[in-house]
Amino acid sequence: MIATHAESGRLRLALPNKGRLSQPALTLLHEVGLTFEEDDRRLFAPCRNYPLDLLFVRADDIGEYIQDGVVDLGITGTNLLREARARVEPRLELGFGRCRLEVAAPQSSLVHSVSDLEGLVVATSHPSLSAEFFEARGVLCRLIEISGAVEVAPLLGVADAIVDLVASGSTLATNALRPVETILESQAELVSSPALDPERRHLADQLTLMLDSVIAAKHRKYLMLNAPANAVTRIREMVPGMGSPSVIPLAEAGMVAIHAVVDAETVWQQLGPLRSAGASSILVLPIEKLIP
Ligand code: AMP
Repeated sequence: MIATHAESGRLRLALPNKGRLSQPALTLLHEVGLTFEEDDRRLFAPCRNYPLDLLFVRADDIGEYIQDGVVDLGITGTNLLREARARVEPRLELGFGRCRLEVAAPQSSLVHSVSDLEGLVVATSHPSLSAEFFEARGVLCRLIEISGAVEVAPLLGVADAIVDLVASGSTLATNALRPVETILESQAELVSSPALDPERRHLADQLTLMLDSVIAAKHRKYLMLNAPANAVTRIREMVPGMGSPSVIPLAEAGMVAIHAVVDAETVWQQLGPLRSAGASSILVLPIEKLIP
């Protein structure tokens, strides 16, 4: 029997129980260092090393669970929170599950802009965001709600266009559709109830910081190298985002070690130029957690 939320004195976090957001969310919690039992059929998993209980539910329901006070926090897609009009406090963008909610029309159609949809039929799995969008643009079209495979609606002749989630665009292309306009950019995010009591708010803030430190670390590497002391200025100019490195004298006269946190996406391009500038013993190491 699960203790009621008020009785437990622990923080409760809702996670998607299946689908494309589920595994990346679990991986992120493991990277933070949280330990818990993982089991496909579980509804509930207590963390062993933090006062946190995980509740596995449908990604679409997470906003409502937070709003109703069933859980304190949740991880789900921006699109789902916005579609459910959930009143939640945004905390952290998590960088996975990236997609866009797009208006798309058949490649052969005469629809080239949103205003061309006036009087036409649009199929969508996001009726409330779509209605809001078309109303704001002053376009009167008829929306029909479809829960899956929205992209086949024009082929079946039930709609003139669609509003659907797009990541790479390959599903649109396979179904002879082209994007017309983006309604919303989405990714997985951590959100909480705006009404946390002080004790839970403190725990939620700590958890947010822990997650933030793991996400920040993914974009950075730790660079270590040895160089002649007179090359330090040049090396600092060469590595973008190097900030203020540690420069440590070595036993060998005139030589220093440089240690710095650098941008993970560009550092590899600098390895050759660094060596040409006199750097040696260059090490690029992963960073587990980073709190600026
Ligand atoms: P699921 O249908 O349970 O796999 O998860 C769908 C959620 O994953 C969506 O509501 C989005 O937040 C996110 N997502 C990310 N990329 C895509 C995509 N290409 N198609 C559909 N959903 C996506």
